[in-house]
Amino acid sequence: MDASELPESTRIRERLRALTRDDAVELIDLHDESMRRVRVETAVEFRTITRVHAKDPGTPIDQPRDLERVLWDVALAPEDPFVDEPRAQLDEPKSGEVTDCPTCLGKGEAPCHKCGGTTRVNCDSCRGHGFVDQGRKGSSICKFCQGQKFQPCRTCKVGTLPCKPCGESGRAYTMQRLVVKWLTRKESRVVAVAPPEVSVQDVPFVAERVVRSERGALSPEQLTELDAPLRAAVDALLTEHPTPEGSRIKTQTLIVERTPVFAARFKTRGKEKSAFFVGEALDAVGLEAAVPTSTYVLVAAVLVVGAVTALVAAGIFR
Ligand SMILES: [Zn+2]
Ligand SMILES: [Zn+2]
Ligand SMILES: [Zn+2]
Repeated sequence: MDASELPESTRIRERLRALTRDDAVELIDLHDESMRRVRVETAVEFRTITRVHAKDPGTPIDQPRDLERVLWDVALAPEDPFVDEPRAQLDEPKSGEVTDCPTCLGKGEAPCHKCGGTTRVNCDSCRGHGFVDQGRKGSSICKFCQGQKFQPCRTCKVGTLPCKPCGESGRAYTMQRLVVKWLTRKESRVVAVAPPEVSVQDVPFVAERVVRSERGALSPEQLTELDAPLRAAVDALLTEHPTPEGSRIKTQTLIVERTPVFAARFKTRGKEKSAFFVGEALDAVGLEAAVPTSTYVLVAAVLVVGAVTALVAAGIFR
């Protein structure tokens, strides 16, 4: 491309004059080799229905909402939208039928979880061995359990405990619980790779274009204005990261970013040279700048002082 055609040409000529200290520097050729990157931010929502047992409501159950059918229509806002993965939960109170409590099988009480209903547990003192180790004297019968190995269960005393899920009523009903989780996925892909001479790791990308869908995924119509390489990168990103099962896309945003990279060929003091100009500031990369002699003297002085300091530290002059 003709150097004069790019809007950055004027700035790059100024940069060259300053860097070479040559007012007659001639810009021969300028190529736009800018890096581009596409970023897609997808806010997805996961919805699942579980069934939990709850106490018999005591009143007849009427017309439960079938959450399975209205799954995506229930309006729910996150409890705390500022956490990393916000979530919300909704218990549908009149959804399900009254049955015998599945935990206690209608008895209102359940076997003790500690002793399993046997009313006794392993002896604390001998850990269920019936004897205790006496070292060289051998072992002796446990005085605490008299060798019986067990002690009465202190949790239940009778082998059963009141059933909590049904509140001892023996009756329970199944309740639908809707759990919603929100998640924002961020995927990105670099479209054009800068020349290997240019390290763009520290150069920030600048957003050039933002395309957003407020409801659901980005539509193909929204992507028609992208050029072919950008479109291919977006398509690849969306294919590589499909919407997970049990989720749907709430909003989707595409951000096209750019890091300016210009390859310049120029002539100064009869010599032809080249350099890259990178980033919004058009920093020169790969250019041997004309260094004033005073800088060499300063660098040499710093090196000498550094070497002497190192020798002193190593104990050479002691
Ligand atoms: Zn129960
Ligand atoms: Zn014992
Ligand atoms: Zn017990």
